[in-house]
Amino acid sequence: MANLTLDDVTKVFHDDDEGEIVAVDEVSVDIQDGEFLCVVGPSGCGKSTTLRMIAGLEDITSGEIRLGNDIINDQPPAQRNVAMVFQSYALYPHMTVRENMAFGLEQSTKLSDDEIDERVTDATQLLGIHDLIDRKPGELSGGQQQRVALGRAIVRDPEVFLMDEPLANLDAKLRSEMRTELQHLQEDLDVTTVYVTHDQTEAMTMSDRIAILNDGRLQQAATPLECYHEPNNLFVAGFIGEPSMNFFEADRRGSTLVTDHFEYELSERTVDELGDRTDVTLGVRPEDVEVVETASGRHDYDAVVDVVEPRGNENTVHLTFDGSEESHFIATVDGMRDVEGGERVAVRFPEEAIHVFDSRSGEAVR
Ligand code: ATP
Repeated sequence: MANLTLDDVTKVFHDDDEGEIVAVDEVSVDIQDGEFLCVVGPSGCGKSTTLRMIAGLEDITSGEIRLGNDIINDQPPAQRNVAMVFQSYALYPHMTVRENMAFGLEQSTKLSDDEIDERVTDATQLLGIHDLIDRKPGELSGGQQQRVALGRAIVRDPEVFLMDEPLANLDAKLRSEMRTELQHLQEDLDVTTVYVTHDQTEAMTMSDRIAILNDGRLQQAATPLECYHEPNNLFVAGFIGEPSMNFFEADRRGSTLVTDHFEYELSERTVDELGDRTDVTLGVRPEDVEVVETASGRHDYDAVVDVVEPRGNENTVHLTFDGSEESHFIATVDGMRDVEGGERVAVRFPEEAIHVFDSRSGEAVR
């Protein structure tokens, strides 16, 4: 039983041309025993470096990494009770499935041949690849190779799984199947898992919590729903959710938010939350924008439909207030609702659904 704790972990690379690159900047997060944590963020934000530091494949520049009560950042990788699964699978092509899975154990443990054999058999049965045990990687599909890579991590019986985009090389259908499988597997094995992904759906559906990084800094670590409904700041609000949240820069005058395209009257409660802030950003998720017949309420505005993208059960509707690109925003509406490009409509931004951010610091005010 062990929590994995990152305490102010920092990684600075030295590059001859670029000088110091702060890849990971004072990241602190406490990952509970058995928890599934997904790490997301734009390319280059420090996801892989974070994972590699936990695995011991990269030294840390400062901070501390603990597994339970043990400080592990100075231990060599083999001594840390963690197992890493790579996007590339990293299987040995000349070895069979059985040999690939047994290899690490033979090298790093004192288990008997029988014990190793039993672990390999159990893992291949768990993963549904027992029939393939004598094949070589070249004779396996991508999904099967990925299972072998997972099996190799499972047989080590680690305290922590570290996974770096393990499903990225699979096609969309297989990826979605493997996602569910992996989730069940992790629940059954109850092993703490840190999982790096580019795929927001993966993060939203699989994880207990999501850690969002930007520029090496942790922006938020919270449940998928918290990140979605209560983003800490503008970055998280814009990063989580597809299509992205609509943002409108506003000048706050008393109880009114004045944007370039509309004025938004705030309730007393929201005004209190704003304090004395004047530069704010109003955020509305596309799914919270209501398309209504006429502008009759105080948060209703006239708009023009630009383009409609049908997505089956729902439509992504691109709108503008005045035809200009600057006034573009998006609404997600029921697929049965009939709207067409060029049509004049009215939109509603219900106050219970709006987000307000301090434009200078980016922090969420409500
Ligand atoms: P991606 O999603 O593209 O895989 P990432 O979030 O995993 O990106 P990292 O690979 O952790 O990002 O890289 C973080 C930063 O550190 C980037 O600016 C990268 O260029 C830099 N970096 C990573 N490894 C090295 C290295 N060995 N030497 C110098 N800079 C590095």
